Amino acid sequence: MSTTSKPTLPPITPDQRRKLIECAIESKGQAYAPYSKFRVGAALLSDDGKVIGGCNVENASYGGAICAERTAIVKAVSDGTTKFIALAVTSDVATPLSPCGICRQVLREFCPLDMPILLVPVGHDPSKSTGDVSSQSNTKATLDSTPLAAEGTEVKEVTLGMLLPMSFGPEDLERPRHPN
Ligand SMILES: [Zn+2]
Repeated sequence: MSTTSKPTLPPITPDQRRKLIECAIESKGQAYAPYSKFRVGAALLSDDGKVIGGCNVENASYGGAICAERTAIVKAVSDGTTKFIALAVTSDVATPLSPCGICRQVLREFCPLDMPILLVPVGHDPSKSTGDVSSQSNTKATLDSTPLAAEGTEVKEVTLGMLLPMSFGPEDLERPRHPN
């Protein structure tokens, strides 16, 4: 009884994977990053097949900046979509960068812990990214032994649970309190 049992997510199709990566790359083109000059694009796949993109949006008051991942979440939720089955994130650097801590927690609110997150380095060609399930699982299996910052054009696939272990989520607020 340690965890709420949820059905395992079905694998995303090669077509969904390609569309997700393409949307993340396209969304990066909308990034408003005049201060950091660090453009990021993200794309969420909803459980009903919608792809929602987001970019980072900075502000002259730096604390007002929002990351691409949270932009995508906010866009989706405000349009009534709250369940997601995959995320892709990309930037302008040749390493598969992963979401920041704040975004990981925000994702945790709406996404299952086994949700795949595709970390897409610049230069990756989405059309060559379709359906190689064995290489995806190899990537997952070797994540611990390979540096995340290795350069290349290969997508690195992780899960939200890998990025945010022992996390606090909505179901924890349902636990009974025992005030003394
Ligand atoms: Zn972030």
